[in-house]
Amino acid sequence: MILPVVALRGITVLPDMIVHFDITREKSVQAIEYAMNNNQQVFLVAQMDSQADDPGVKDLYSIGVIAEIKQVLKLPSKALRVMAEGIKRARLLELGTEEKYMTGKILEYPESKGSYNPQEKEAMFRTLKELFENYGELHPKIKKDSIQRLTDTTDVYQLSQQIIINLSVYYKEKQRLLEAVEFQERYDLLCDILANEIEIFHIRQELQSKIQEKVDKNQKEYLLREQMRVIREELGEDAASEAEHFEEQVEKLKADPLVKEKLKKEIERFRNTTSNNSENAVIRGYIETLLELPWNKASKDSKDLERAERILEEEHYGMEKVKERILESLAVRSLTQKGESPILCLVGPPGTGKTSIARSVAKALNKEYVRISLGGVRDEAEIRGHRRTYIGAMPGRIANGLRSAGVKNPLMLLDEIDKVSSDYKGDTSAALLEVLDGEQNVKFRDHYVEIPLDLSEVMFIATANSLQTISKPLLDRMEIIEVNSYTENEKFHIAKEHLLPRQIKKNGLDKHKITVSDKALARIISGYTKEAGVRGLERKLSEICRKVAREYLDNNKKQVRVSASNLEKYLGKARYEINKANEKDEVGIVRGLAWTSVGGDTLQIEVNTMPGKGEFKLTGQLGDVMKESAETGISYIRSVASVYGILPEYFKENDLHIHIPEGAVPKDGPSAGITMATAMISAITGRKVYAHVAMTGEITLRGRVLPIGGLKEKLLAAKQAGITKVLVPQKNEKDVAEISTEVTKNLEIVFVEHMDQVLEHALADE
Ligand code: ADP
Repeated sequence: MILPVVALRGITVLPDMIVHFDITREKSVQAIEYAMNNNQQVFLVAQMDSQADDPGVKDLYSIGVIAEIKQVLKLPSKALRVMAEGIKRARLLELGTEEKYMTGKILEYPESKGSYNPQEKEAMFRTLKELFENYGELHPKIKKDSIQRLTDTTDVYQLSQQIIINLSVYYKEKQRLLEAVEFQERYDLLCDILANEIEIFHIRQELQSKIQEKVDKNQKEYLLREQMRVIREELGEDAASEAEHFEEQVEKLKADPLVKEKLKKEIERFRNTTSNNSENAVIRGYIETLLELPWNKASKDSKDLERAERILEEEHYGMEKVKERILESLAVRSLTQKGESPILCLVGPPGTGKTSIARSVAKALNKEYVRISLGGVRDEAEIRGHRRTYIGAMPGRIANGLRSAGVKNPLMLLDEIDKVSSDYKGDTSAALLEVLDGEQNVKFRDHYVEIPLDLSEVMFIATANSLQTISKPLLDRMEIIEVNSYTENEKFHIAKEHLLPRQIKKNGLDKHKITVSDKALARIISGYTKEAGVRGLERKLSEICRKVAREYLDNNKKQVRVSASNLEKYLGKARYEINKANEKDEVGIVRGLAWTSVGGDTLQIEVNTMPGKGEFKLTGQLGDVMKESAETGISYIRSVASVYGILPEYFKENDLHIHIPEGAVPKDGPSAGITMATAMISAITGRKVYAHVAMTGEITLRGRVLPIGGLKEKLLAAKQAGITKVLVPQKNEKDVAEISTEVTKNLEIVFVEHMDQVLEHALADE
C-alpha cells in the first residue's frame, strides 16, 4: 500500500491514540493535503533525529502507524494544525520518489495478543493496574478520575492499550512500545517503563523534598542571621570581632598563665553565646574586669625621701607628727623593699587633712592613688564582691580599687575604716582583716573575680574619726597616728598658705584680682566656723572667692580687697561669738571639757537640789559611763560630807538633779567625773563656782583625779569658749608639754591630783 508519509519530530503515535500536531514543512503539508483529498489516511512515523529537516529513509524509524486525519486547521504562514488518530501499526518498506511530498510503501505490521490462561491474565492485569495506579498518583498530569476510568476494564490487553495511550513518556520509549508487536513483549516493556517512571518519581520527590528542606533551612538561617546582624548593628557590637579583640588584649596582658587560661576559657564561652543573650553580657563584664585588673602590672616607686619630704611639706601645713611618722615608714619601706611596714591609720576629727595627706604620700612616692570609702559599708560582699551567679554581681571595693588604679602597687586609702559595721550579711571587719593581713593578702579572694588577687604590694593607709568602733583585731594590724584638731593659729596658716591660694585659683582669680587681709582670715576662723578641721573654713573661702569673682567683673576689673570690715558683705553676719564663758560665777553650774569624734567641746553641767527623799536624777545627752561617774561622785561627796559642812541628813531629805544641756553629740566617758562632783558640791553647799574655770578628769571613790585623753582638743575648746583657767589631771602633765604653746598661751593650766585641789580652784570664796 502506498501512503503519503509525514515525518514527526519528537512524537510517536500509537494505534487508537488521538494526537494533535502542527506541521510546517512544505512536504508534510503537501502530504496532508494529498491525504485529505483522498482517503484521509497517512503514514505517521517518528524521526530518529528530530533535527533533520528533510529526512530520508535512514532518518526515519521503520515502524510507524497508519493514521486517519480527523481535522485540519490552517494556521498563518502555511502551517497546519492536524488532529489524527492512529489506526494500526505498519512498517515503512521504502520511500517513494514523488517530489512534492513523501510517499512510502507501507506494510501492515499486525500485533499479536498472545495466549494466556485466565489466572495468568488476571495476574498480569492486577500487576499492571497496580503499577499504573501508583504511576497515576505520582504523575501530576493524570487526574484521579481518569485513572478510575482507565482501569475500569477487566481486560489486560485493553488496559495496556489505554495505558500506553495515556502514558506521558519520551517519544523514544513510545517508539519501543510501538515496535513491540508481541503482546508479551509490550506488556513487559510497559511494566518496565511504569516501574521505572515510578522510581524516577520517587527519586525526584526525595530530591525535591531535600532541596525544599535545604531551601527552608537556608531561608530560616538567613532570616535569623539577618535579624541577629541588625540587632548587633543596633547594639554596636559583634561577638566574633569582640572576642577577637579580647584575645588580642589577653596576648598583651601582663599576667600569670593561670589568669590567661581563665580568660581564654571565658572568651570561648563568650564567642558561643549570641549577643542578645543576657549571659553574654555577664561574661563580657567578667572578661572586661579581668582584663582591667592590674595582675602583674606595677608602677615604679620613687625612693627619693628628700623629694617625699619636700612634697609633704609643700602641701600641708603643720601635722609634724604625722609627716615624721610617714617619712619614717617610707624609709622602712625602701629598706625592706616591700610593704612590710605596718599599715598606718590616721585618726582625728573631720577636715584635718587625713585624706589629703594620704594623697600627698601617693604623690611623694609616685604611686597611683585610690580612695575606698568604707563609710556605711555593712555587707561583706561590698568588700569581697558578689559571686558571679548573682544577677548584677560586681567585684568588691578592693578589687574595684585595684582595677581603677591600674597597677598592683597603688596607695589605697581606706577611708573611714571606723564606719564599717557588720550585720547579718557577714563580717565586714573580718574581710578587711584579710585585706590588711600581710600573711593572707597575697592571695586575696574576691568572690566575683575568683582568681586570687595579690594585695601584698598595695600600700594601705586608713583613716578614722575615732578608734572606739574599730574592732580589736583590726586595730592590732594598724599603727595609729593621731591627727589633732587645729588651733586658730594653725587654721590661719593653713588658710593663708594653702586653702586661700587654692580657692583663688579654682575660681579663676589671682592675686591681682583679690586680696584677703590677715584680720579677715582670723575673723572668718573665729566668727564663721566652729570645727576641729578646716573643711568649713575652706567652704567659706570658696564662698568669698565666688562672690569676689562676680564683683570683679561687675566693678570694671578693679582688685577686690576683703578685710575684716567688709567681711559681712561676703559672708553675712558672724555666726559664733568668741566669748562664751559664763558671765558670772554661779552655784551648781560647772563647765566641763569633752572630747568627741569631731573635736573638743565644752559642756556645761547643771545641778539643782530640792527637798525630797534623797533621790538622784540624771538628764541630758549622756551615756552609761557618765552615769556611773556621777554616782561615784555622789558616793565620794557623801563620804566627805562633814568636811564641807554637809549634814548627814541632807541626803535623806533632798533630791539631786544633774543635767547636761546643749549639744546633739552624745557624750560619754569618765572625764566629766570631777566636773559633776564639783557641780554637786556647789549646789549642796551653795558655794559659787568661778565662771572662768573649766575642768576635765576622772574621779575615783576616794576623790583621786585620774588622767584623760584628747587634751589638745579639750584645751582648744576651752580657749574658744573664753575660759582662762583649766584644771587638768596631774598625770596629763606630759601631754601638755607636747601641746604647742599657741594652745596653752593665755590659759592657766592647773594640774590636780585630788578633788580637794579641784574644789580649791573652782569654788569661789564665800
Ligand atoms: P579629712 O580626711 O581629715 O576629713 P581632708 O583631708 O578632706 O580631711 O581635708 C579637708 C581639706 O582641708 C582638704 O582640702 C585639705 O587639703 C585641707 N587641709 C587639711 N589640713 C591641711 C593642712 N595641714 N595643710 C593644708 N591643707 C589642709
